[in-house]
Amino acid sequence: MTSSEQLFETARQRIPGGVNSPVRAFKAVGGTPKFIDHASGAYLYDVEGKRYIDYVLSWGPMLLGHAHPDVIASVTAQLQKGLSFGAPTEIETQLAEKLCSIMPGMDMVRMVNSGTEATMSAIRLARGYTNRDKIIKFEGCYHGHSDSLLIKAGSGALTMGVPSSPGVPAALAEHTITLSYNDIEGVQAAFAEYGDQVACIIVEPVAGNMNCVPPIPGFLECLRACCDQSGAVLIIDEVMTGFRLGLQGAQGYYGIDADITCLGKVIGGGMPVAAFGGKRAIMECIAPVGPVYQAGTLSGNPIAMAAGLCMLEHIEKDGFYAPVFNATDRLVNGLKERADAAGIAMTSNHVGSMFGVFFTDAEQITNYQQVMACDTERFNRFFHGMLDGGVYLAPASYEAGFLSAAHSDTDINDTLDIAERVFKTLR
Ligand code: PMP
Repeated sequence: MTSSEQLFETARQRIPGGVNSPVRAFKAVGGTPKFIDHASGAYLYDVEGKRYIDYVLSWGPMLLGHAHPDVIASVTAQLQKGLSFGAPTEIETQLAEKLCSIMPGMDMVRMVNSGTEATMSAIRLARGYTNRDKIIKFEGCYHGHSDSLLIKAGSGALTMGVPSSPGVPAALAEHTITLSYNDIEGVQAAFAEYGDQVACIIVEPVAGNMNCVPPIPGFLECLRACCDQSGAVLIIDEVMTGFRLGLQGAQGYYGIDADITCLGKVIGGGMPVAAFGGKRAIMECIAPVGPVYQAGTLSGNPIAMAAGLCMLEHIEKDGFYAPVFNATDRLVNGLKERADAAGIAMTSNHVGSMFGVFFTDAEQITNYQQVMACDTERFNRFFHGMLDGGVYLAPASYEAGFLSAAHSDTDINDTLDIAERVFKTLR
């Protein structure tokens, strides 16, 4: 039997860091990433045959659990017809119709292959539609790795951004304004100064890339109002929250409509699918109808559409969400009780089927600075204790966790029992 250690060593010879996406490398938590052989329901199985209760779920998509038989059957049936045609198929329109019927304010939608493509294209579209260059984003939100979005805050509030990666031109970074998440006054001040130059705001409606940080009351409403007053486009990046906070994502949950919505993860059921969609007047600026260019050889891939469509047909059913949300409540409240009993300072956030735990004395976490002040060393020990016990959490303290419809009461109870033992080792 080949171990994860051996496979990782071999992988590192040919793949930078041994992985095709950095966080998989366990760099933040240390140790060797588990190489996965297969997955089923709520469980991952590594190459050594060890089973883990999975709270990463491929970073969010597997809302039905892994290898759901109906999704596998849909994909298998579609596979028999061929893998890709580079020409339109009926199933693309079926998925588009489904998305537009579900998402508030979505008249038209374009399929792409990753969340990065969705947000990158949405920003180009917003710039083309408004004929303005500046964009506003928030510290701690991640929207993929396109150049305009790999920008961190400048030195003081209201300064222009600086690249957060070599390879991103400073001249481009100048057009990105990075503000503090949940800072309503900061947003108002930015619009007072630059409002007529702002093409768009892009926001994670619940930030899931700095652990799990929900919006404070009034924050999303303020973004909507500033966009309405200034003519900027509100891009709500629901790549993570889409279908996780309910059928209509964060927009349904908080009652805020986007001008452009980015979707990903769940809509592909585990296949590489994402999408951006919104108001007809904006979407008709996209080629071939309008002048803003956007394209993709494999976009709308029929196998991926089949997986997504089957996924959405399941989650649309009455009563789908309540058990997943209840399981999330039970897990998070149970972790908090056990941490308290063990004398470990911890707080948590959860919304719908997303959650995060923070090792901190702070009572509530609402922004990036507070997330950065949490005890990462303690999280790392928690992570490894849980992993050894058979629970797979995200290998970094800055990532949200996810539940699926496949997580049973027994899985939650087992997770809490393991956590109880691990908390005692963290003192
Ligand atoms: N937006 C959000 C909110 C995300 O969480 C992610 C990925 N985690 C992306 C965009 C980028 O998606 P992808 O990794 O598919 O490019």
